[in-house]
Amino acid sequence: MSARNRVRNEAPSSAPRPVRIGVSSCLLGQKVRYDGGHKRDRFATDVLEPFVEWVPLCPEVEIGLGIPRPTIRLERDENGEARLVMPSTGEDLTGRMAQWAEEKVDRLLELDLCGYILKKDSPSCGMERVKVYDRNGVPARSGTGTFAEVLLRKAPYLAVEEEGRLNDARLRENFISRVFAARRWLDMQAEGFTRARLMDYHARHKFLCMARNQAGTRRLGRLLGSATGRDSDPLLARAYLEEFTAVMRRPPSPKGHANVLQHLAGYVSSSLDAADRGELADSIHAYRRGLLPLVVPLTLIRHHARRQERTYLLEQAYLSPHPHELMLLNHV
Ligand code: SF4
Repeated sequence: MSARNRVRNEAPSSAPRPVRIGVSSCLLGQKVRYDGGHKRDRFATDVLEPFVEWVPLCPEVEIGLGIPRPTIRLERDENGEARLVMPSTGEDLTGRMAQWAEEKVDRLLELDLCGYILKKDSPSCGMERVKVYDRNGVPARSGTGTFAEVLLRKAPYLAVEEEGRLNDARLRENFISRVFAARRWLDMQAEGFTRARLMDYHARHKFLCMARNQAGTRRLGRLLGSATGRDSDPLLARAYLEEFTAVMRRPPSPKGHANVLQHLAGYVSSSLDAADRGELADSIHAYRRGLLPLVVPLTLIRHHARRQERTYLLEQAYLSPHPHELMLLNHV
């Protein structure tokens, strides 16, 4: 069971806990690649770095392959299994990598990771569409890196992305939303799961979920509403996390956001004069048509919620899913 599913009895601390993200070391500019180079990712090092604590890891170096080293790749064997192979020597590294990864991922999850960024295309780190060579040396983009495969299997609730996919603004924003939602989940876990805390978490994340999947959000509400005293809180938490992860995996569409924005506008509109009400409605409409970034109607709703002292709205993760300085909601 991952660290995210265990109940802790740590003393609550007022100091914010670090947002820890595992990362393929080469993406941070560390010269660990087979050729002694790196694959520095600017979003990670220049934008994200001030807000997170990295846990860098190079699986190939960790299993002792050295820098520089001969290239390795995935090859399909006669049973259809993808093997991690060093073509220059014919050495099969699958067992060595997989065994090391099983133990390493367990230790990583003890660190309360909130997410993981993997290097795309790597036979060790790649999350999807990694080249797998058949017996004739013909590649098909059908594989997952050997380390990544273990990570994804052992940490099914962890937000995991490749740096290549993070170039897509919607995927990037969704990944970071999941990372910060995980930090808040871990904070709750540190205080101990209770039904009341789960209800509070759900209340704060309801609109974040609604923008992605309304039916899934209703299922989450029913799950908590139908829980009885006989249900153990950690089991309930696990069931909630499973459904929450499924909902949060899918990035919200502009239509999903517009529905939530209309809903939130309903809380503040009745206290607004006609001009302010019209401005808010117009900004939502313009966002829906792709003429304004999401941050505009969100900022207006936050502004009115603050002026009207609408605590319920101000506590919504949807209005501040991640640090504003990341400017992830500023694209059209
Ligand atoms: S992709 Fe993974 S294994 Fe390859 S150099 Fe980067 S961290 Fe190391």
